[in-house]
Amino acid sequence: MFDRASVVTPGGVNSPVRAFRAVGGTPRFMVSGTGPYLTDADGREYVDLVCSWGPMILGHSHPEVVAAVQEAVTRGTSFGTPGEGEVALAEEIVARIEPVEQVRLVSSGTEATMSAIRLARGFTGRAKVVKFAGCYHGHVDALLAAAGSGLATFGLPDTPGVTGATAGDTVVLPYNDLDAVRAAFAAHPGEIACVITEASPGNMGVVPPADGFNAGLKELCAAHGALYISDEVMTGFRTSKAGWYGVDGVRPDLMTFGKVMGGGFPAAAFGGRGDVMAHLAPAGPVYQAGTLSGNPVATAAGLAQLRLLDDAAYAKLDAVSAELRTLVGDALAKEGVAHTVSAASNMFSVFFTDRPVRNYDDAKQQDVFRFTAFFHAMLARGVYLPPSAFESWFVSTAHDERAVERIAAALPAAARAAAEATA
Ligand code: PLP
Repeated sequence: MFDRASVVTPGGVNSPVRAFRAVGGTPRFMVSGTGPYLTDADGREYVDLVCSWGPMILGHSHPEVVAAVQEAVTRGTSFGTPGEGEVALAEEIVARIEPVEQVRLVSSGTEATMSAIRLARGFTGRAKVVKFAGCYHGHVDALLAAAGSGLATFGLPDTPGVTGATAGDTVVLPYNDLDAVRAAFAAHPGEIACVITEASPGNMGVVPPADGFNAGLKELCAAHGALYISDEVMTGFRTSKAGWYGVDGVRPDLMTFGKVMGGGFPAAAFGGRGDVMAHLAPAGPVYQAGTLSGNPVATAAGLAQLRLLDDAAYAKLDAVSAELRTLVGDALAKEGVAHTVSAASNMFSVFFTDRPVRNYDDAKQQDVFRFTAFFHAMLARGVYLPPSAFESWFVSTAHDERAVERIAAALPAAARAAAEATA
């Protein structure tokens, strides 16, 4: 299948990390998923710790989500008009996340952050955007500038195709460094439209914000007339009922969502302060649109999933995550492998270093070759981890005792493989 795919699709995949380039080997082509398990085209079953990179928080093929989708599909798949499903989903988001007074639905997290940035620029009349190295906000041109060191470095495009002009309005700073943010505001008075940050980063591995970091960002933004945008595409509806906002209570001006809120379908959103959202077309002058925005099948899936995510579901996710973190940490410790298990609520990842990881530079110090050996040993034993040392691991409410036991059984050999690996 990979050979076939490679003929007709660049690199054989529709999203780069799926290609296993970071770990080597052939990506698995999945044909079905049930609960915590995925089955590949060769009939092998895996315990899934990727969960489609976050969305499948109830596990695969949850009967109530599937039923909601089936019911919606029978009524038609897209109308290009307003519909009740999108209103109900927006109401659910507004009800859960207090700083969100109004929300606009889109189809991907990338669209959500792209639109939020355009809105922030339109609202403030300013051009510059501050982002943090190691934070991923989708493949928005202006946000693919992650390179940079020192204070207030202008972003260099991370990829051909992003022009210097586009990236030139992006200021890339080290994560968890409020002094760098202060210096950026001082260097660009009246020019910074917004600071965008992952509410708790999961795209350089899991690196939670230091105490007071998000609150400090909010304060600095407010003091300088910039908007504080919290990207909750990954953390939203996952790290608590109200996402990371439910954990740290820092009130963003704008927020972005995706993944969990789509129930496995392409649905995402951005929202926040009513006076800012009022600048969005057709209420205001900032243009934004989408043929499939608020799609009735996607909104039915998302709504069904969100309605099942009650306090008990989050307690279950936290418990499974804690159990797995202990199992992984114990297995690696037993083999003497230097590691740090880093968690943000039920999201977690393992850095193959025992030095503290507070930002992207720290994360890059880990022994990636040990992760590679660990990854392949787990895969060979039927556990599907993210194929990169710089990604969060995701659990679902469907990860039951049997699934955890299968992971536990795979760990000793994987820890040994990590210990024996050489650079
Ligand atoms: N923002 C964050 C924090 C993400 O983790 C991602 C995707 O992983 C995105 C934005 C982009 O979302 P999408 O892949 O749906 O475009």
